[in-house]
Amino acid sequence: RKIIITIDGYSSCGKSTLAKQLAKKLNYTYIDSGAMYRAVTLYFIQNRVDWLAPEKVHEALGNIHLEFVQNSLTGLGEMNLNGENVEHTIREMIVAEKVSEVAAVREVREFAVAQQKKMGTRKGIVMDGRDIGTVVFPHAELKIFMTAEIAIRVQRRFKELYEKNKNITLDEVKQNLELRDYIDANREISPLRKAEDAIILDNSHLTHDDQLQLVMQWVEDATMA
Ligand code: C5P
Repeated sequence: RKIIITIDGYSSCGKSTLAKQLAKKLNYTYIDSGAMYRAVTLYFIQNRVDWLAPEKVHEALGNIHLEFVQNSLTGLGEMNLNGENVEHTIREMIVAEKVSEVAAVREVREFAVAQQKKMGTRKGIVMDGRDIGTVVFPHAELKIFMTAEIAIRVQRRFKELYEKNKNITLDEVKQNLELRDYIDANREISPLRKAEDAIILDNSHLTHDDQLQLVMQWVEDATMA
């Protein structure tokens, strides 16, 4: 039996790393819900859309087509925005700086959530984000809420970004993470919080293998239930 697995939590807790490993091991589909908010943000920046003006947002969303296109080498879905692969561009700081503001806009969330729910009509899915266990798949068989110490999260994210951009500073990364977490946890519409029936996974001091082993046991339990 295939199930739906949701992974929510703060920024840079290692959600996507775990989700990808799980999907590979289980032969499930991994869906990065954050990529959708990032792609909408990229479109808004590129087209100078004022996301505080509801009618502008409405009009712009009508022109946005999002699609995950499978990379034949990695087997992973890559974010396409109106037919263009933006998988790498959406990870840049210019997008990271604005994405939480854009993701707090009601119509943007409705736009993304409607598409995410559709992807769940087929089981065998691991989706990570902020509101997946609470809003997108409230009936998911296994819900995980990930946490990690802030210093550790900053280090991990810094390492990732530094590989691509040597000008980035630790402080810049820390400020961006804290700001996003604050906005995500305090916005009016579907704020980030743990679903009541989610299992907490603090991975501050766990290796990738430790985590995978632990979660595979939870998957087994949830699949049997
Ligand atoms: O997961 P990632 O860090 O790429 O997500 C980028 C941003 O998108 C988050 O900081 C959050 O503001 C927003 N997001 C969201 N709901 C989701 C996934 C992401 O609001 N399900």
